[in-house]
Amino acid sequence: MCYQVVERYSVCRCLYYKHAVDPCQAYGQRGHTVQEKTVLVGYACQLHTSHRPDTHPVPGHGVLPDSGYQSGYGG
Ligand SMILES: [Zn+2]
Ligand SMILES: [Zn+2]
Repeated sequence: MCYQVVERYSVCRCLYYKHAVDPCQAYGQRGHTVQEKTVLVGYACQLHTSHRPDTHPVPGHGVLPDSGYQSGYGG
């Protein structure tokens, strides 16, 4: 099973950094999936930093659903 470390902000769960896939021997085969390993970083992103009282929703700031999200990245 391949692993891909995905770092997310622990407060708002926005994407912080997506590492390269760590491939196993079966990488690239049909139906092979890459398992995401979520690593939480201990703060919020710039948009969701709490010291900004007037936070407006920004178009284009993608928030991926936490449950059931299976990435096909690199497959
Ligand atoms: Zn693999
Ligand atoms: Zn955020």
